[in-house]
Amino acid sequence: MNKKIFYLIFAIIIVFFIVLSAVFLYNKLDSKAFPEENTNENIAEKQIEEKDKLINKKVEVKAGKVYCELMEEAGVAYSEAIEIYEEGKDKYDLSQVRAGRFLDLYFDKSNVLQKLKYKINSEEELIVEKNNQTDISTSSTSTSRPKWNIEVKEIPYEVREALDGGSIETSMYEAAINNGLDDETIIELADAFQWTIDFAMETQKGDSFKLFYEKRYLDGEYVMPGRILAAQYMSGEKKYEIYYYEESEENQGYFNEKGESAQKMFLKAPVSYKYISSGYTQGPRYLAKFKMFTSTHMAIDYAAAIGTPIRSVGDGVITSAGWSSVGYGYITAIKHNSTYTTRYAHQSKIIVSPGQKVKQGQIIGYVGSTGLSTGPHLHFEMIKNGIKINPLNEKLPASKSISEENMENFFNFIKPLQEKLNS
Ligand SMILES: [Zn+2]
Repeated sequence: MNKKIFYLIFAIIIVFFIVLSAVFLYNKLDSKAFPEENTNENIAEKQIEEKDKLINKKVEVKAGKVYCELMEEAGVAYSEAIEIYEEGKDKYDLSQVRAGRFLDLYFDKSNVLQKLKYKINSEEELIVEKNNQTDISTSSTSTSRPKWNIEVKEIPYEVREALDGGSIETSMYEAAINNGLDDETIIELADAFQWTIDFAMETQKGDSFKLFYEKRYLDGEYVMPGRILAAQYMSGEKKYEIYYYEESEENQGYFNEKGESAQKMFLKAPVSYKYISSGYTQGPRYLAKFKMFTSTHMAIDYAAAIGTPIRSVGDGVITSAGWSSVGYGYITAIKHNSTYTTRYAHQSKIIVSPGQKVKQGQIIGYVGSTGLSTGPHLHFEMIKNGIKINPLNEKLPASKSISEENMENFFNFIKPLQEKLNS
């Protein structure tokens, strides 16, 4: 009698386990058969903020898609998307969201939007949060109360300092990548040195560099470089040093070890290093395509894709801009002062006109292959007192120095940085 009950209970337990493992196996098979039920490739779902129990959807802004479409695709009602837009447009106009950025949406368990974050630029983000407080005391006016708290806030990066460096085998780009630097850091470094060295043209095998800089982190993850605080570049006997220093509101930027501004009258190159560093160029192969200044070719040719922006190397006035009858194609000439003129040839498009004033770094046109040209490139000439010269050899005075009374402060400021770079 007791035995029968015992066997019955035993059988029930066995059956229970068989059913349990069958269910478990079925679920496993099922998840293998359908690995991802991703119905919309724009939406990458990720569950974070466990404590708030909100579900995060990061929606990439795709070219040609507008804010409301993106919100609807993510499951937000059109009326609600419009409501947020209307309430927030004084702070940030959401119709201006840029391709490549993300709408960071947070939903509660019943799929109701609670929060939206959008990175406006590298420094600021828009934060939209649902106003869940109900105002009981003033029931008559409660309808006019905003449904969303909308703010533009500074992105709360955690900043860590780092010392990195490397030496050049083939190109600056390759050297930097091989030493764990990312594209953005290389471009920052090139920008800091843009009046001093042309990383595309002037670097040679055996040169070395070091940089002490800020790295920005969010939630413990590296996001991007911050400011380059100090850097040095060594080429043979020559050593170039730059330090970021703020003497006053008006005088801040990079200075060399003597307190002279690193900012000069001319940029080293008419094409920003960011268009040359990576991507289509593939470093060394690209560098081989540069045509250097020789006695027969009194200019520098920058091989670059058609449409690459061309910048004026210095402040000046456009003296001519248009078609050349002698093979230069579309060419622009800029007079910088009574001594110097620069010319930019074979352009695909000119966007300035004679008489116009331009600033250093201003885009004046785009790389092309017009006129007598064998392929897309920028033919860049510098003319000094009517004679073509090699811009890379030209020594130019520094624009501004640290004032005498602040010199000691400056030297004290850079001393520990110098020690770091020389360590
Ligand atoms: Zn040329």
